[in-house]
Amino acid sequence: AGSADENDVVVIGGGPGGYVAAIKAAQLGLKTTCIEKRGTLGGTCLNVGCIPSKALLHSSHMYHEAKHSFASHGVKVSSVEVDLPAMLAQKDKAVSNLTRGIEGLFKKNKVNYVKGYGKFVSPSEVSVDTIEGGNTVVKGKNIIVATGSDVKSLPGITIDEKRIVSSTGALSLSEVPKKLVVIGAGYIGLEMGSVWGRLGSEVTVVEFASEIVPTMDGEVRKLFQRTLEKQKMKFMLKTKVVSVDSSGDTVKLNLESADGGNQTTLEADVVLVSAGRVPFTAGLGLDKIGVETDKAGRILVDKRFATNVPGVFAIGDVIPGPMLAHKAEEDGIACVEFIAGKEGHVDYDMVPGVVYTHPEVASVGKTEEQVKALGVSYRVGKFPFMANSRAKAIDDAEGIVKILAEKETDKILGVHIMSPNAGELIHEAALALQYGAASEDIARTCHAHPTMSEAVKEAAMATHGKPIHI
Ligand code: FAD
Repeated sequence: AGSADENDVVVIGGGPGGYVAAIKAAQLGLKTTCIEKRGTLGGTCLNVGCIPSKALLHSSHMYHEAKHSFASHGVKVSSVEVDLPAMLAQKDKAVSNLTRGIEGLFKKNKVNYVKGYGKFVSPSEVSVDTIEGGNTVVKGKNIIVATGSDVKSLPGITIDEKRIVSSTGALSLSEVPKKLVVIGAGYIGLEMGSVWGRLGSEVTVVEFASEIVPTMDGEVRKLFQRTLEKQKMKFMLKTKVVSVDSSGDTVKLNLESADGGNQTTLEADVVLVSAGRVPFTAGLGLDKIGVETDKAGRILVDKRFATNVPGVFAIGDVIPGPMLAHKAEEDGIACVEFIAGKEGHVDYDMVPGVVYTHPEVASVGKTEEQVKALGVSYRVGKFPFMANSRAKAIDDAEGIVKILAEKETDKILGVHIMSPNAGELIHEAALALQYGAASEDIARTCHAHPTMSEAVKEAAMATHGKPIHI
């Protein structure tokens, strides 16, 4: 309805980048249409990413706690079993509630929603093959590409979403695999490996690089890997998957050490391919209107999120930068602010990153390796959760807080936290970083007792060598 009229803003893609941009544009008084091919809003994140994975991480954690930790807290349960269909149904319910919620937000903010596959016919016209089978042309003064990303496949491996799965298939396995092999030790592989490991799978993670989660602070990464190993996750680092054969009863993987030496084989019931994500622009007609992309297929934009084609913008996973939902949202807001003639700004150095395992690992700002590379003098303040009273009280005390501050000014450069709920704790640090705070600012801020957050304060005190509780 009304889609043939000219819009101020047309957004292609209804993920966290696109739907947030559309709502913000409408809030700023711009006539806005959002085009989404999936049939539901929320993009990768809500449908097959952040949300369903966190639902399963929570449910599997509850099962694991009931089975392995309740007794030590004096809670007796006679039998604990996994009801996988019920667990998956709870996840699906969370997803459908949230995706429908966004449709409600579109209505409330008067964003016009067109369900279908959009492709450029000119820099101000998008032809949409609608889900119902028709076609409509949507016109806009400004068009924002927010088409996101897709699973990266590996040569010689065909994903069937049953025995050789992407993260999408790994969110809906019909039974708990006895042996799960995860290819790629990034956060998605480790999160999904944790889910199935807790539910009973033997999990082996095969990684080409010499370390897991490459973006993580090296010291925290070592602790994290040790923790995952204690949870019985196995790692084969510096290992290349040469071929995967799923013709037999089990899937057979041929592996080779990354430097070309030893060959080994591995058997699995299910193989998860989580070796990264690639920008998704298939069928969009970018070449037709001459939008520039880099070698990796990402759309190139300037600080205003403008492409080289006037009136065409791009945000989220389809442009360079961290491939995270909250980064896509920030892009969306800033891009629309520019379109509306205001100022917008996103600082990619201040985008927090979280791995939602147990314990979680969260970070914001620079790693110690990055600080070293900058050549600035710095101090490190660390505090272990073993010395945090709340963590001890609940018997969940694995992890640390690590703060890096510039030596001369005490300005915080980076904060890294491994702990239960680190993904919540990190935002105090994100705010501090955003305000250009010194570690002393955190050290002198009153933190409630007993909380895990006190470990952040103590680490800030430790930056100057003076924590109280250790
Ligand atoms: P997307 O969410 O990919 O949305 C793009 C949308 O555009 C899609 O719905 C697609 O259907 C639509 N589209 C594409 N082309 C067209 C077209 N031509 N016409 C119409 N519609 C089109 N990030 C986090 O921050 N935290 C997490 O915990 C997290 N967990 C994740 C777990 C998994 C398993 C995965 C796979 C990802 C996870 N991510 C997480 C990453 C997060 O999902 C992405 O960074 C985020 O979704 C990017 O948002 P986006 O709007 O740029 O793109």
